[in-house]
Amino acid sequence: MSRPAILAQLKRALLTEAGYRCAIPTCRGTSSLQFEHIDEWHKVKEHKFENMIILCANCHARVTSKEIHKDAIRKYKNNLAILTGRYTTAEWRLLDFILDNSPDAVDQNGKVRLRFPQSDQVTYYGLVKDGYIVFEHYKAGIAIGETVSNQIGIVFTQKGVELLQSYKNGQTIQKVDMG
Ligand SMILES: [Zn+2]
Repeated sequence: MSRPAILAQLKRALLTEAGYRCAIPTCRGTSSLQFEHIDEWHKVKEHKFENMIILCANCHARVTSKEIHKDAIRKYKNNLAILTGRYTTAEWRLLDFILDNSPDAVDQNGKVRLRFPQSDQVTYYGLVKDGYIVFEHYKAGIAIGETVSNQIGIVFTQKGVELLQSYKNGQTIQKVDMG
């Protein structure tokens, strides 16, 4: 049986799920992205969203050589589903940003060295609601022209730091009760 092409719609869904980056949290590379079957093609003989993931060529090779185990890939896939299903793209990018810049981006008190306009509270509200971050408020932060914009800072709670570690290590991210 010849291997059919992966449909464009499925490719897009997989790329979107992974944020157009390698799905391995310690890598998150953006070049030479490939479509990997978690259970191998010769066993499943179908292209199915649940069984596929985006990997960069480098990580793909590490999976093929079994340096990265398939069980780990399965966990990364599960975590992606939780993160993309529950949080905004901005929230998820914040987690990636911190992992990309770790440990410099977060100080010992869990504070992220970034300030956002106060209106961004809405964007990050999912992480607040689930107890992963809290806001710090700054009065009259930067002056943009004539307008002075109040700003918020972001502080990761203990639970938030644990979320980052779980995401990075591919440990199962706890599902928060929908409330
Ligand atoms: Zn990679």
